[in-house]
Amino acid sequence: MGECQAGTITTTPEIKDVTKMERIGAHSHIRGLGLDESLEPRQVSQGMVGQVKARKAAGVILQMIKEGKIAGRAILMAGPPGTGKTAIAMGIAQALGKDIPFTMLAASEIFSLEMSKTEALTQAFRRSIGVRIKEEAEIIEGEVVEIQIDRSITGGTKTGKLTLKTTDMETIYELGHKMVDALNKEKVLAGDVITLDKASGKISKLGRSFTRARDYDAMGADTKFVQCPEGELQKRREVVHTVSLHEIDVINSRTQGFLALFSGDTGEIKSEVREQINTKVTEWREEGKAEIVPGVLFIDEVHMLDIECFSFLNRALEDERAPVVIMASNRGITRIRGTKYKSPHGIPIDLLDRLLIISTSPYDEESIKKIITIRCEEEDVSMTDEARDVLTKIGVETSLRYAIHLITTSYLVAKKRKATTVEANDVKRVYKLFLDEKRSVNYLREYQEQYMF
Ligand code: ATP
Repeated sequence: MGECQAGTITTTPEIKDVTKMERIGAHSHIRGLGLDESLEPRQVSQGMVGQVKARKAAGVILQMIKEGKIAGRAILMAGPPGTGKTAIAMGIAQALGKDIPFTMLAASEIFSLEMSKTEALTQAFRRSIGVRIKEEAEIIEGEVVEIQIDRSITGGTKTGKLTLKTTDMETIYELGHKMVDALNKEKVLAGDVITLDKASGKISKLGRSFTRARDYDAMGADTKFVQCPEGELQKRREVVHTVSLHEIDVINSRTQGFLALFSGDTGEIKSEVREQINTKVTEWREEGKAEIVPGVLFIDEVHMLDIECFSFLNRALEDERAPVVIMASNRGITRIRGTKYKSPHGIPIDLLDRLLIISTSPYDEESIKKIITIRCEEEDVSMTDEARDVLTKIGVETSLRYAIHLITTSYLVAKKRKATTVEANDVKRVYKLFLDEKRSVNYLREYQEQYMF
């Protein structure tokens, strides 16, 4: 298709490409649990591979959560390191919905000097409870833009007239691009009027007649049009945003308001503030302005919690607003911190009794290979089959996590020799450069006397 122009944009700014730098999280490839309609795990789906029994159990739990039958209970993911405990917890959160809060906490983080253990746990709980607030707002100028497409399509080139209701240059750049895109994809024709929603990036076709409100229904569930007395249409949109109870607490208790959230300086929060917020949120709920969305709180290395934290958890799980608590442990029978008693995963028996336990087991070679392949795609790394085989072998002999770490490092080595595809030798080089856990232990044993004691 020929070149497209964004037509008459009042100013014709030079359009630059913006390369986005994105940090790729270790679990960014996980998009759900990968289950079919009858909750059976598909072998590879939504970024999930294998670990079928655990995923199936997670699916049953997901159903219980959706039906509100999880109250007073929690989940324990038990299994060796790198067997997908965190991945499955994230899968559950993802499957629950897009705006479901997911909080990750390593149990050792609780023991900070800045706040008490119970305050840290309370904050983690409130971070995992969302408040979905509904507001009706008029569409802000510059956010939604009407475009009148001019006349004809000549030789594959479409020309449009872009009417921008904004003077903001960034918006002009961005929408100019999107309009060219829309024209290219032939979603619109000459004479059509389309609306661009800057926030969602969605392009909706309004059609040519604007007289009936139902013409606007096509714009999506969150857009409502209200008839004005003169028969003119006024655009209104229901804006829904989800914030966590913790965010509301912080905004209402710090002089610098929401900025405190960015600085991380959330400090201890007074119980009166929390009580006030709870009352306010209950009011909003009764007035239909807000709803409570219980999220997921994931507590990793749960054996690091002590007996006081465990009794806090026991109590907190009873609260009707409690999030779904998923704990993880890669320990067997170990001492409960703060006591002289031992128990499975270092968790007191009374709490264990409330837990639904999902166990994960080590991956076979084929699953490791598939996970590595998915991670390569996620990290945009191209790799030869031979290199992938070497990496899989490393994964089998060391750990899945170590093998995943080598993806980026071997890509950097390949890039250094000006190649775009990782080869087996690149992988072998980084294997020698970075020690895995086993080799690191051996190394320390060998050179122990040279270290400080
Ligand atoms: P630890 O006990 O050390 O905390 P873990 O059991 O929580 O380990 P994860 O962190 O979930 O293990 O897994 C290690 C890596 O492998 C992560 O990048 C994770 O996303 C990926 N992974 C694990 N299992 C799967 C799976 N079944 N499908 C896809 N990716 C997986």
